[in-house]
Amino acid sequence: MTFRVDVITLFPEVVEHYAAATILGRAADKDVWRLRCHDPRDATHDVHRTVDDTPFGGGAGMVMKAEPLLATIRSVPDLPRPVVALTPSGRPLTHAVAREFAALEGVTLLCGRYEGIDQRVLDTEVDDEVSVGDFVLAGGELAALCLIEAVVRLRPGALGNDASVMEESFSDGLLEYPHYTKPAEVEGLVVPEILRSGDHARVARWRRAHSLRRTLQRRPDLLTEDALSDEDRRILAEFPDENPPAANG
Ligand code: SAM
Repeated sequence: MTFRVDVITLFPEVVEHYAAATILGRAADKDVWRLRCHDPRDATHDVHRTVDDTPFGGGAGMVMKAEPLLATIRSVPDLPRPVVALTPSGRPLTHAVAREFAALEGVTLLCGRYEGIDQRVLDTEVDDEVSVGDFVLAGGELAALCLIEAVVRLRPGALGNDASVMEESFSDGLLEYPHYTKPAEVEGLVVPEILRSGDHARVARWRRAHSLRRTLQRRPDLLTEDALSDEDRRILAEFPDENPPAANG
């Protein structure tokens, strides 16, 4: 079934242009997903097509007005649910969250601009709020595209090889192992011999060791030494760290 993504944005051309390129464009050609954008300016009635106004209570910046957003959401009879607002206050976008959305039939993404969206829209028509990180973008479009790309590539048929999403970072709670391609030597740097050995069982153990070590070193929030299984400890011992961190002092 085609996964439907509707995006409410003041910059439909930005979203459409990116979505038509690279892997997202190819997936749309194969009916893996379908994009529709809705511009809240089309739901305004004044000559300036006003979508923002000053905040009650004072302060810097402008706020996206409720009426054009509510009218846009309500004017599309088959708008996919949930409606998800992109906002720094939302729940963090992770692989698990992307999987959640990929299991649905579709999603509507609401992109903010200015200081954000009138709270009454969030209270009445928004089902979920998602953040792409602890930083502030100027608008929700890049955040929406992050979510779209993370989700659509999990849909069957989106990638040339569906198996590739099974092995990558976060799919098993670990960061991914290093990759190499031809030639075997670049500027004196040689691809590890095991990866050229044709011994698939040993390659799998080497990759597991590097995934485990990379995750332990870079993301202790995902994995700590005391959570390692006996088998993972054996695998790590089999492939000692080639670049141990420099000792302090
Ligand atoms: N005043 C808001 C705050 O402090 O949380 C930031 C508003 S930001 C300048 C404008 C819009 O960009 C937001 O309404 C949201 O749609 C989007 N945005 C910015 N950072 C984001 C993030 N980390 N994740 C998701 N959306 C983000």
